[in-house]
Amino acid sequence: MIDVNDAGLAKRAELVIPGGTYGHMDVRSFSSTLPQYMASGEGCRITDVDGNTYLDFMCGWGPVVLGHRNRVVQRAVADQLALGDCLNGGSSVMVELAELLVDTVAHADWAMLAKNGTDATTACVTIARAATGRRKVLIANGAYHGAVPWCTPVAAGVVPEDRAYLDYFEYNALASVRAAAERAGDDLAAIIVCPFRHDVHRDQELADPVFAQGLRELCDRTGAVLILDDVRCGFRLDLAGSWEPLGVRPDLSAWSKAIANGYALAAITGTDALRSAAESIYTTGSFWFSAVSMAAAMATIRELRDTDALSRMRDCGQRLRDGLAAQARSHGLDVVQSGPVQMPLLRFAGDDDFELTRRWCDEAGARGVYLHPYHNWFLSSAHTAADIDEALDRIDGAFAAVARR
Ligand code: PMP
Repeated sequence: MIDVNDAGLAKRAELVIPGGTYGHMDVRSFSSTLPQYMASGEGCRITDVDGNTYLDFMCGWGPVVLGHRNRVVQRAVADQLALGDCLNGGSSVMVELAELLVDTVAHADWAMLAKNGTDATTACVTIARAATGRRKVLIANGAYHGAVPWCTPVAAGVVPEDRAYLDYFEYNALASVRAAAERAGDDLAAIIVCPFRHDVHRDQELADPVFAQGLRELCDRTGAVLILDDVRCGFRLDLAGSWEPLGVRPDLSAWSKAIANGYALAAITGTDALRSAAESIYTTGSFWFSAVSMAAAMATIRELRDTDALSRMRDCGQRLRDGLAAQARSHGLDVVQSGPVQMPLLRFAGDDDFELTRRWCDEAGARGVYLHPYHNWFLSSAHTAADIDEALDRIDGAFAAVARR
């Protein structure tokens, strides 16, 4: 069993970081066995500051799509680092990356680059309002689009005016979107939606194609902008865009996470109809033109495009799902697995407060498998069938421990 003491860092952090740590990576909020501080990563494994190694099924919460320290990406990063990162403007890699995004993403006629997913979703909303001259934006109840006042899930520090022109609908319920559009009337600027429902604390829910197509039709009819928030799913499911298999193309997409295999980058892509609105807004940041993460993105997207990385990730995800189902059955436990196999989630049936699932994740963590009880996991193309089997071997002990209780 793994022993974690965070090398004394948690105590030091309490003194100099409010709350010791914050946000989604505050491990205290979801685990009592996993470490807070990590030392290194390699492929599908991460090692904590005490020297314990874990099979990683969070992948930096999504960004690490090719595995930690992927050699091709690391080489591109080293080559760009040798030239410079933060120069007085974009470097040639910025234009090359925008060209690659326009070639890769089905709806994209142009691309803009930023740092975080929140930058991208916020810019999409701003572009939609600039384009339409309207104010109202429709959002699915419970959806996560970032951590600034218009979209943060936590109310502290947010005033009603920050959300004055937002209205809400139920994911996969077209009638509720139509009702919200009706309420917005001729002030409807945009609908922002994720490719599937991956809200925390609930089973994941794939998008009903009729729902996706209905949003497209509603936007076409009302002149509102359809924004796909592909921050979490993008470059893991379908390189052309996560709703491409449903035949639905958004007007704007927000990307981040997997775009550069862990280097800080986000992108906004859009159609020609929104090009002048994108030109008209003011959006930027001190590090938005940094070249290193763009070089990482070039290498990441090419690697995803030119190898079988996506299908291997899907196959390993399926192997994990099948293996977990068989193990749960053999221990007489009833589980619910949801979402695409590359972004899986498991919950014990009837475990509505996630207490049993949390205990199971704790047991897996103590056996060197990094899982999350109520946020979707992520696979990378560095996971092999042998890694999945090793993880399942360890997880079997977690099922046994939960079954004993
Ligand atoms: N949208 C979605 C769907 C996300 O999952 C996230 C990040 N979890 C964001 C937006 C915000 O991205 P970031 O944390 O990079 O600002």
